[in-house]
Amino acid sequence: MKKPHDNEPPRLAIKRLDAPYRWLVQSESDPEVWYGVDLLENGRVGQCDCDHFRYRLAGMAAESKHPYNGLRCKHLVIVREALLNALLLSMANDQYEHEARHQQPNSRPAQAGHHAS
Ligand SMILES: [Zn+2]
Repeated sequence: MKKPHDNEPPRLAIKRLDAPYRWLVQSESDPEVWYGVDLLENGRVGQCDCDHFRYRLAGMAAESKHPYNGLRCKHLVIVREALLNALLLSMANDQYEHEARHQQPNSRPAQAGHHAS
């Protein structure tokens, strides 16, 4: 019987390389090993140095017309998740700063549920 947390992806360390789409991901079984990941290869499916990707997924990834997570190893998925989280946080911060900048210095705080148009 599988426990719910068995489906959780592992938390592996990642390091950015020379471009925002090139990363290293630490191996789950051997912390000494880091796999090189490129998110834009294979029509944005990505490419990874791990055995799972090279022997099982690379062929399908190279032939696929549309990128999706079924063609990605866990290393590719982990890096994409981390980047998406960073992007969402950055967008949320931008939104907050935009709202703060447009607030009148002496105005009373807007009441929840009421939106002046
Ligand atoms: Zn991999």
